[in-house]
Amino acid sequence: MSIEQKIESLRKELNEHNYKYYVLDQPSISDYEFDMKLKELQQLETEHPEFYDPASPTIRVGGMVTKNFETVAHEHRMYSLDNSYSKEDLEDWEKRIQRILGDVEVEFTCELKYDGASISLTYEEGKLIRAVTRGDGFQGDDVTTNIKTIRSVPLQLKGDYPPKFDIRGEIILTLEGFAKMNQERIEAGEDPYMNPRNTASGSLKLQDSALVAQRPLECLLYSVAGSNLGISSQFEMLEKARSWGFKVPTVAKLCKSTKEVMQFADYWDSHRHSMPFETDGVVVKVNSIQQQEELGYTAKSPRWAMAYKFQAEQASTVLNEITYQVGRTGAITPVANLQPVLLAGTTVKRASLHNADQIAKLDVRVGDTVFVEKGGEIIPKIIAVDFSKRSADSKPTEYITHCPECATELIRKEGEAQHFCPNDTGCPTQITGRIQHFISRKAMDIEGMGSETVELLFKQGLIANYADLYTLTKEQVVPLERMADKSAENLVNGVAASKAIPFERVLFALGIRYVGETVAKKLAKAYKNIDALMAASQEELVAVDEIGERIAESVVNFFSEPANLVIIDRLKSYGLQFSLSEEQLENQTDKLKGQIFVVSGVFETVSRDELKKMIEDNGGKVASSISSKTSFVVAGDNMGPSKKTKAESLGVPIISEQEFLQKLQA
Ligand code: AMP
Ligand code: ZN
Repeated sequence: MSIEQKIESLRKELNEHNYKYYVLDQPSISDYEFDMKLKELQQLETEHPEFYDPASPTIRVGGMVTKNFETVAHEHRMYSLDNSYSKEDLEDWEKRIQRILGDVEVEFTCELKYDGASISLTYEEGKLIRAVTRGDGFQGDDVTTNIKTIRSVPLQLKGDYPPKFDIRGEIILTLEGFAKMNQERIEAGEDPYMNPRNTASGSLKLQDSALVAQRPLECLLYSVAGSNLGISSQFEMLEKARSWGFKVPTVAKLCKSTKEVMQFADYWDSHRHSMPFETDGVVVKVNSIQQQEELGYTAKSPRWAMAYKFQAEQASTVLNEITYQVGRTGAITPVANLQPVLLAGTTVKRASLHNADQIAKLDVRVGDTVFVEKGGEIIPKIIAVDFSKRSADSKPTEYITHCPECATELIRKEGEAQHFCPNDTGCPTQITGRIQHFISRKAMDIEGMGSETVELLFKQGLIANYADLYTLTKEQVVPLERMADKSAENLVNGVAASKAIPFERVLFALGIRYVGETVAKKLAKAYKNIDALMAASQEELVAVDEIGERIAESVVNFFSEPANLVIIDRLKSYGLQFSLSEEQLENQTDKLKGQIFVVSGVFETVSRDELKKMIEDNGGKVASSISSKTSFVVAGDNMGPSKKTKAESLGVPIISEQEFLQKLQA
């Protein structure tokens, strides 16, 4: 066998194993054997780059980085679906269809509605050519490199596939995969993701495809688009696509009447949790392609399809206790502690009650039987009280008047929903909360230190604010619980290393209320150093782009607090960055002040993000869509066609990357 034949046969074999494992769920070799074969192929490919093939299974491990996701027009538009929420809605829809089609028999294909991110895959001669997100339906982002890492997306088709077509589907995370990802994040001290859907869709836009490869994404397909496909019904389409090697869920039913459709919908409404992924409804499609063509489309969606959405799930349970959490800014959040109840496949013990008004509005009381509902979010909410079950001696909930952590009387400012503990310098939870925020990844990113360490250090009286971190010695830290010589050293080194963290992150780390990452960046850019910022009046602050009254007031308050000034002075003396660096200052001008830019396409000398940063650094603004206010569109290669038309019709000048860079030189 020649090297080329060897490579070919390994690719074929590995593709087949991938298919068996990820599409059919029927692995025929062990993971170990698979890995060995993959390694062998990788080795041969590295030694013989002349046999490169973009459909090789080695592509799956990722590694290619996409700096800019190119905008690509869909050859066939991606429509959305009309929604219905009741049997009556569905019947009305059927009547509308019959009116258009006349007195003919209509059959329906029912499928589940997969809750993820839509995707369109283009295949030519059996090879995956391109994968594009839905975008606005006319054009989306080219995410091919990332999609190729998803094992259930075939890189090479089998059987008698058409020479060229697009296939549509949904990129999803299974519930199990999602839970595992979150478990790993929690162990790494990171915040868990909120829901599978957003996480799946966010994954498609990661720049590093190796990271995408590590996520347990799947691709479920449901529709083929193209010409001369030789397919006459939706149901046949599903079967054909399956035979070409796609993962097409087998839960699909051909129904002769809306009655059968309803049976399918009812069945899956109550059995949806037996599926390994989230589904939020059923999609009903007119089966005959010819009838579909006759029915056509409205401005947004096909007339021949309808989504039937399941009701959000509810459960009823008993409210055992209301507890109150204190955040790092002193905000109080009431939490409902519930009798554990199974809801949407998970056991629920706690629900958010938001604030005092919410409790009053629901008139919720300890001992009540309450209805809890779970939307896409992780924390469920209480939506109502079952008053029929309330006992006669129940008493209205009295919201706490004093902080559960420090017993200080709570305040509530006019127009604010939340109560606050005003004891920001003495309330233990606020103190540790602020220090925990200070050391967090997006702030000072202090390695070797976690939330628990902060609590320990505080309890031992070693720190009372974040400035104290900088005077900690190894000798002080070693005796702490679960500390060893090495970890104590790491901690102290981590603290020292944080002195190099740039000004905008230090500003964010200070934990000024309403000053998040983005606001901190804006303020750092506008004032360049902390002294200028501290001297700014409320009026001056409001004049800064995107800084409102609320933020301005909070900044002024923070810097008028003597205790904060002492801490900032100390931090300065330890050598933290309280002004923009020389380099940051050099690259900043006002050259583009007052100008609004829209950036589109792929650029040669800079990445899209770099370009945006250059615009902002020079006083310009970046907008995401073109309007009459846009000053310039900076166009790279492959600028989206609809953007181009829009710019031209509004008379917005389109400039090239070179022209833009020249503007900055001038
Ligand atoms: P919506 O985003 O609410 O307009 O719903 C339309 C979207 O549902 C489509 O763009 C698809 O991404 C998605 N979808 C999920 N499952 C299906 C399915 N079985 N058939 C068609 N579309 C589906
Ligand atoms: Zn308190």
